Amino acid sequence: MSKTSVAIISLLSLLTVVFIAIIVLGVSVMRLNLFIRSVSELKTQNREIAITFDDGPCPERTPQILDILARYQAKATFFSIGNKLEENAEIAKRIIAEGHSIANHSYEHAPVFPVWSVKRIRESILKTDKALINLGIEPGNMFRPPYGVTNNLVAAAVRSLKKDCIGWSIRTKDTCRSPEQVIAMVKKNVKPGSIIILHDTNKYVCEELEAILKYCQANQLNSIALT
Ligand SMILES: [Zn+2]
Repeated sequence: MSKTSVAIISLLSLLTVVFIAIIVLGVSVMRLNLFIRSVSELKTQNREIAITFDDGPCPERTPQILDILARYQAKATFFSIGNKLEENAEIAKRIIAEGHSIANHSYEHAPVFPVWSVKRIRESILKTDKALINLGIEPGNMFRPPYGVTNNLVAAAVRSLKKDCIGWSIRTKDTCRSPEQVIAMVKKNVKPGSIIILHDTNKYVCEELEAILKYCQANQLNSIALT
């Protein structure tokens, strides 16, 4: 093989690796906006942040989360799963009654959600909207894809339903890190406009939330509900 052929093959291999890396990153990092523009920060002139909770409502922890939020007069957004909304109707109603918001996080949070057909992805989102409507809750336009994974199929479904894709600026990875790590990460990075992701399902969520709210209060950062 000539030197030119070897150089061309090397260059093509390198470009393939770069291309695959961009796709992998684009699928998993919503804020790169590779497939669809997503909201990862609040546009605000005030010292406001948005604390968000995914994967509930959770009968063990969501009521405690609501108690803590009330104590700090903080508001939050719950990216809820449709079938859990149906199972925990009273908690969902309490979330709204206390001034927080609930947004769509798919009906079943299936690991294979991003590789479903556009039609099936749409059905999952619409079924969650229906669950909210059945509870007397306005579904709104906010959607957070399960696992934060976007691709061309998810993007097409979200666009066709005129939903806004909502991401985050502080990914705490709270389901696999210690409370100390989660709290330290938030303290280091939080600033006006931050959107923080936590999970109702994380067994340490209450102690993390309490520490985060205490820090925010001391730093005049106010958590508001996304709408
Ligand atoms: Zn989730």
